[in-house]
Amino acid sequence: MPIATVDPTTGETLRTFDELDAEGVEKRLAAAAEAFRAHRATPFAERARLLRRAADLLDADQDEIARTMTTEMGKPLKAARAEAAKCAKAMRWYADNAERLLADEHPDDADVKDSGAVRAAVRYRPLGTVLAVMPWNFPLWQVVRFAAPALMAGNTGLLKHASNVPQTALYLEELFRRAGFPEGCFQTLLVGSRAVDAILRDPRVAAATLTGSEPAGRAVAATAGDEIKKTVLELGGSDPYVVMPSADVERAADTAVTARVQNNGQSCIAAKRFIVHTDVYDAFTERFTATMAALTVGDPMDEATDVGPLATEQGRADLEELVDDAVRAGAQVRCGGRRPEGQGRGWYYEPTVLTGVTPAMRIHREEAFGPVAVVYRAADLDEALALANDTPFGLSSNLWTRDRDEVERFAAGIEAGGVFVNGMTASHPALPFGGVKRSGYGRELAGHGIKEFCNATTVWEA
Ligand code: NDP
Repeated sequence: MPIATVDPTTGETLRTFDELDAEGVEKRLAAAAEAFRAHRATPFAERARLLRRAADLLDADQDEIARTMTTEMGKPLKAARAEAAKCAKAMRWYADNAERLLADEHPDDADVKDSGAVRAAVRYRPLGTVLAVMPWNFPLWQVVRFAAPALMAGNTGLLKHASNVPQTALYLEELFRRAGFPEGCFQTLLVGSRAVDAILRDPRVAAATLTGSEPAGRAVAATAGDEIKKTVLELGGSDPYVVMPSADVERAADTAVTARVQNNGQSCIAAKRFIVHTDVYDAFTERFTATMAALTVGDPMDEATDVGPLATEQGRADLEELVDDAVRAGAQVRCGGRRPEGQGRGWYYEPTVLTGVTPAMRIHREEAFGPVAVVYRAADLDEALALANDTPFGLSSNLWTRDRDEVERFAAGIEAGGVFVNGMTASHPALPFGGVKRSGYGRELAGHGIKEFCNATTVWEA
């Protein structure tokens, strides 16, 4: 895949970039290692000052960088602005909280004594240079949620961004540099995915984090495993969205639309499988389908647009295959199921609702990375839970109910890294984020995220 900005509304290549050569990569690896030696010793207050400055600069750049993101991957401009604002917020959150999150831990006095020590503590020290392999879907946020904690912990970062968002990738490097982070603390590597293996094997790289597809995660984890290096993987999801009879069904249906089509449907934590109790199935499905069908699909730069194009031609082809496979096997198309008319060569796809999906269909177990929803009917919470867990993925989940007992049963039985009740899944700097099963492992955000790339060091003194 060439490193290029390709407009998803037209398919036109707007700008191409040369891939870094071996010498360029070597220079950056050396700079990252060199920067780590100094950065690890800087006080939290100094790191926080720089990160707050980065947040201020990002706020000032909001409109410009939002336009760049929209141009590169097609998300609606208003969503792009919101993404930039969220990144600034996360930077400030880590600037405010990192020192507290990484404070020394002291075991109970009795346990310290029992271990034979007079004093014992756990210290969180940085690991070194972390390679971040990142996707195009939230081209700022996916990077910032790694970079903000990593830099606050004293690590240095190397970003291998997706090949279709090079301008956003270069902006990020520039942002941290302008904020005052010393040379080498955060660098972008304009390289294709083939270069990742050698970079990750380099002894100057301590660990890796990847957000993206299962094949990419598997490749990076295999190399990291071979090198005994720590990884965090945030892969796909096919989150269930369960609606029970006691729920506010109208609100559940309206939120379901946003939960499905946010980011043109290309979000790992988008709700993708809607599992609705039979008592409210018709009411939910009718309202949900009508609202999906009424969404405005079009130019993402237009403020009135709800759903823009898919980011890549391949992404749309993959989505079409999933829908066609289901329809061939007997699924019903409640709305959409095709490319919209009059959108020229852009990679658009109509918001789509499918019912009658069975386990034999690919969409039952594969991630639909676009505005396509599947609605299932369930007789009770046990059946809903069984359906919800009948997936290789386990990222997040949603439950709509006013029944406390159902909340407890769902939270205890769901195989996922998150449970959002009476709302849609959203990440927040203070809440850990990540999955189980094929959705990956490790956590981002909160204290869990910042500690992933720390060396928890036991200091024992007799
Ligand atoms: P990829 O997983 O291919 O891309 C994500 C990142 O991984 C990119 O930087 C990519 O680089 C890199 N990469 C890809 N293959 C390898 C490899 N073998 N070794 C090292 N790095 C690699 O995602 P796609 O864009 O192809 O999307 C495909 C599917 O992945 C989607 O349909 C969706 O299901 C899932 N996905 C999930 C995301 C999430 O948020 N969890 C985000 C994006 C995709 P390059 O761009 O140079 O290929």
